[in-house]
Amino acid sequence: MKIFTTNAELQQYLQELRNENQTLGFVPTMGALHAGHLSLIKQARESNNIVICSIFVNPTQFTDPADLEKYPRPITEDIKKLNAAECDILFNPPVTEMYAGHEHWHLDIGELEHLLEGKFRPGHYQGVTQVVYKLFNIVKPDMAFFGQKDYQQVLVIRKMAELMHMPVKLVMCPIEREPDGLAMSSRNIHLSPDDRQHALVLSKALFLLKDNFNRYAIRQFQAEAIALIDSEPGVELEYLEIADGETLRPANGNTKHIVALVAAKVGHTRLIDNVIISS
Ligand code: AMP
Repeated sequence: MKIFTTNAELQQYLQELRNENQTLGFVPTMGALHAGHLSLIKQARESNNIVICSIFVNPTQFTDPADLEKYPRPITEDIKKLNAAECDILFNPPVTEMYAGHEHWHLDIGELEHLLEGKFRPGHYQGVTQVVYKLFNIVKPDMAFFGQKDYQQVLVIRKMAELMHMPVKLVMCPIEREPDGLAMSSRNIHLSPDDRQHALVLSKALFLLKDNFNRYAIRQFQAEAIALIDSEPGVELEYLEIADGETLRPANGNTKHIVALVAAKVGHTRLIDNVIISS
């Protein structure tokens, strides 16, 4: 695997590949790689000649400085995992390579910015669009792969790519879970053994919803799922919404694409998860 830390060297190398008509599949990450990230790499490999992964802990998308500070950065292990996954290129820039001091950035992405995650993490999606816009501009991928785990993020990036006329095909990949149902996340390492056990209520509530779903009793189902989570010690629910999968507004009996999304603090760790109920 080739490793680049500067835009200029990466772009020069990618241009050579493009001149040879190689297609580029891109997987942006913040590192601390797990099987969820590696499934994105695998999917990128299946439909592209070259797979490029980025590892960049983007400061502008963190709303809590302590969260940014403690975000795991095991780069040596990550490089080993990427080599084993046969990733071709790693882009691992320092913050100074991505940002020239303080930058003003704002992209009007409409309601998506303020619903659900947006409400609890104000400014988060501005930071996400800022960094993904830059990464897309540097890499110019044919395809980019994102996890359903961050469902709202996929909608936000789709909107950004449309608004900015970015010619990239976006692919949403399924959520990888631990055998007991917990969605894989780089933040799971912060869970104590007790937290880890309590956290299972999130995927349990989502799958109960999915398995018993009745589109004519949406609010009753939502209330039951919320009650289940509220009854779990150590779990502080932020939201559980049954939403329109396109707009993320609350779903109703006529909604075609339905997704249930949850966010909660488990101990000191904030977790998110979702299931697609109908697509
Ligand atoms: P992150 O490093 O958390 O920014 O995640 C990088 C990419 O991996 C994002 O597109 C995430 O949605 C995706 N991802 C994170 N966790 C999972 C998972 N459990 N399954 C599938 N994709 C995931």
